[in-house]
Amino acid sequence: MNVPDLTWRDLGACQGADLTLFYPEPDDRRSIRLAKAICTTCDVQERCRSHAMDAREPAGVWGGTDERERRRIWRSQGRRLRY
Ligand code: SF4
Repeated sequence: MNVPDLTWRDLGACQGADLTLFYPEPDDRRSIRLAKAICTTCDVQERCRSHAMDAREPAGVWGGTDERERRRIWRSQGRRLRY
């Protein structure tokens, strides 16, 4: 079993931030907005987003995306794969 290399997270702008912002209740739009603002300053944002999409991270803000956005993208990809 391959263990993913997640050492890039050590370079994330969220290091030292309040992690409750990144794992808010789904309807806590304020925390989600604040977490996404931090992501926009992050040097590893693209890598983080790719990981979240590939690993199908079900919860939290990753790479500037929240769980609803990722679900929407996965659904649209699933639709495309069926055609
Ligand atoms: S993109 Fe956001 S969640 Fe990912 S490492 Fe950077 S600050 Fe953290």
